[in-house]
Amino acid sequence: MTPVETRKCIRTLKPYPPGKPIEEVQREFGLKHVCKMASNENPLGSSPKALEALRKASKDAYLYPDGHAYYLRKKLSRKLRVPEDWLVFGNGSDELIYLIAMAYVRSGENVIVSEKCFIEYKITTQIMNGRLKEIPTKDFAHDIHGFVRAIDKKTRAIMFSNPSNPLGTMIDKKEVDYIVKKTPKRVLLVLDEAYYEYGKSRNYPNSLYYLKTNPNVIVLRTFSKAYGLAGLRIGYGIAQPEIIENLNRVRPPFNVNRLAQEAALAALDDKEHILRSLKVNSEGKKYLYGEFKKMGLSYIPTHTNFILFDVKRDGKEIFNTLLRLGVIVRPMSIYGMPTFLRVTIGTMTENRKCITALKKALSLHT
Ligand SMILES: *Cc1c(COP(=O)(O)O)cnc(C)c1O
Repeated sequence: MTPVETRKCIRTLKPYPPGKPIEEVQREFGLKHVCKMASNENPLGSSPKALEALRKASKDAYLYPDGHAYYLRKKLSRKLRVPEDWLVFGNGSDELIYLIAMAYVRSGENVIVSEKCFIEYKITTQIMNGRLKEIPTKDFAHDIHGFVRAIDKKTRAIMFSNPSNPLGTMIDKKEVDYIVKKTPKRVLLVLDEAYYEYGKSRNYPNSLYYLKTNPNVIVLRTFSKAYGLAGLRIGYGIAQPEIIENLNRVRPPFNVNRLAQEAALAALDDKEHILRSLKVNSEGKKYLYGEFKKMGLSYIPTHTNFILFDVKRDGKEIFNTLLRLGVIVRPMSIYGMPTFLRVTIGTMTENRKCITALKKALSLHT
């Protein structure tokens, strides 16, 4: 034991288990080619325009960034049609989840999440010594009626991602309308839309619309997924100015670096890259669905760039065998789904490699 005592709520915390990095798998198994299909990154990489902007911006790397992200703020404000002071930027939307917990969750208060939710909601709540109310999912989706029923006097926030990570399912406009309406204004409602670009469809809510009349709602989006900038760490929150001001109070002054801001600005201009990314995603989705069906594996239809599927055996074992074959996916045992794996939809080359490896792995663990 170290002589310096940790806060009690930290002692039982398990560090976030990220997808295995490519370099680590290459080292461990002596492999040259490894497909990472574990962290929902864009398989086409970053927009070429963003890469060019990065190159240009790199000469100013010695200068502190603009902590207020002046140009990016202006551009997003125009694109989203929200006032400039309704935006806050984070070192990934991950950081915004931390800032939200820091600014709002008091010790002993509770945060309502889905039992199968993005793990950062749980970690940040625990860091603040908040309590979690974990609501079981219904048909592999958030049980929003369960969320509403769980609200009590000590509830400070409700957090969920829509579409959901890790499930890939979406709750529709009517359901989000319902939860917004039923959430008291003293409870912060965090709508995490990390997969917004993939999820957009006729029934997907226009969540920015809620912001005008609901000063307790914050929407989170990111440049890490469809925009392909996960390595640079940049995401943003949209809410009424009072929430934004509170998050700015706890936000580190230079949290979003200069290169990330420049790349994000350029990425917003590259509509073609986004369209191509969405096309590759929907083609890959069709292919993987088809292959899963042929193999007799069930899967959860997705509104994102990843698919959860059931290997009907110990998922960890299949996961480990796939690693040796040079394909990184994500085991789902930590979400209480021990026979499921989560695979990020890749390029067709990656998707084919994944299916070939999967067939081999399944034949080794009958
Ligand atoms: C990926 C992801 C994020 C975080 O993305 P950042 O890289 O931190 O912007 C947030 N929420 C969900 C549900 C995610 O899947």
